[in-house]
Amino acid sequence: MGVLDVAVVGAGPVGLTAALALAGRGIAVTVFEEDALLSTEWRASTFHPPTLEIACDLGIADAMLAEGLIARTYQIRDRRDGLIAEFDFGLLADETDYPFRLQLEQYKYTQIISDMLGGRHPEVGVRMGEGITGVAQHADAAVLTTASGERVEARWVLAADGARSTVRKALGTSFDGLTYDHRYLVLSIDYPVETLLPGICAVNYIADPDEHLLILRTPDVWRVVVAVRPELRADEVLTDAYVAGRLRGLFGDHPELPLRERKIYSVHQRVAGNFRQDRVLLLGDAAHVNSPMGGMGLNGGIHDAFDLSVQLGKVLLDGAGPEVLDAWAHRRRKAAIEAVQELTHRTTTEMAEQDEAERLGYRRRMSEIAGDPALAKAWMLDAAMISNVRAHGLPPRPAGRGPGAGAN
Ligand SMILES: Cc1cc2nc3c(=O)[nH]c(=O)nc-3n(C[C@H](O)[C@H](O)[C@H](O)COP(=O)(O)OP(=O)(O)OC[C@H]3O[C@@H](n4cnc5c(N)ncnc54)[C@H](O)[C@@H]3O)c2cc1C
Repeated sequence: MGVLDVAVVGAGPVGLTAALALAGRGIAVTVFEEDALLSTEWRASTFHPPTLEIACDLGIADAMLAEGLIARTYQIRDRRDGLIAEFDFGLLADETDYPFRLQLEQYKYTQIISDMLGGRHPEVGVRMGEGITGVAQHADAAVLTTASGERVEARWVLAADGARSTVRKALGTSFDGLTYDHRYLVLSIDYPVETLLPGICAVNYIADPDEHLLILRTPDVWRVVVAVRPELRADEVLTDAYVAGRLRGLFGDHPELPLRERKIYSVHQRVAGNFRQDRVLLLGDAAHVNSPMGGMGLNGGIHDAFDLSVQLGKVLLDGAGPEVLDAWAHRRRKAAIEAVQELTHRTTTEMAEQDEAERLGYRRRMSEIAGDPALAKAWMLDAAMISNVRAHGLPPRPAGRGPGAGAN
């Protein structure tokens, strides 16, 4: 094998987005994935308007819309007092072609991209079951080592190998931040949960000093993401008895709720010290992780990937210097810290607030914002990540792009 133009490490949603975006620009790309099959873990299930605009440009938005569920409103609730505020994404109708949240499981997004790569870009190599164990940098290329001992040279390496990134660790790049005390138990429930909690909508953030939670509708199931006290061990939390007790606490007595999945996750806010080191660029969870409150982690990773594909196009096709990659690294790190981390940390803290006066202040503030159309719109621009991409300069969209317009 000669020197690759671009090697992507990780066939998760961010790595595959990067591969599709690069292939669409005519850039040769090879993906290395350590697992034999694409992940079917549920994890993310929310796609925000700027991400749907990117998906439109990549030619996958129609497939996502066909499989997903459109959420036109979202609610902020208090477990004790009920509804505090309801926001309507229709307020964003003059700001985006997609004034809603699309609820779609992460593994379906990954599969849609994989199908698109197979159908339209058979030249893209996706080498499943070939993990990367090390990386070295030379003047003309980076050298990756695979688990089977092969050496692969690439002009540029995109490390999209997730939060525990082997590549980030091999580079010695810092990943500073915090780990919250609480963890989240994620339950996927195959039952019409709206009949148990009348008045909820498809996306509900529910504040509580003891067990704040998120209740989301996805195309197939309802998902409950509920805080778990730090002193409980993961194996205790995942027992039938513990889960049944939590469900009873949340929904009252009912016939047994059919569960399709139960998982427990630690919650971190961390950002890599640098998103570029010579020929290696970090993106997605390899570069930044955050609390799922707000549904922004994967969305931010997709924004990294799309922006990077444009910048690599300038370098590989138009002869631009690597300074455009430094600007990308700086911009995307700022977006992760100043927008995603800031907002998701604030939401997590507000949902978990213990102090009664603070809780009351939050409830008042949110109902005031929801009751004032100008304030509500500004709130929605933040919550839908539109202010984020405007402040952190994603590349402009080609003119004439909109729902149904298709890709290059
Ligand atoms: C409960 C939960 C809910 C969430 N909800 C949302 C949400 O609603 N919205 C949102 O935007 N985000 C959400 N997130 C975050 C989202 O899941 C992640 O941001 C997303 O998975 C990041 O994608 P990624 O491709 O960067 O990394 P990953 O999904 O971790 O993929 C990394 C890939 O790299 C592979 N890999 C790892 N090491 C190597 C190696 N050495 N060599 C080759 N391959 C390797 C892995 O096998 C994997 O396929 C949620 C997360 C959780 C836990």
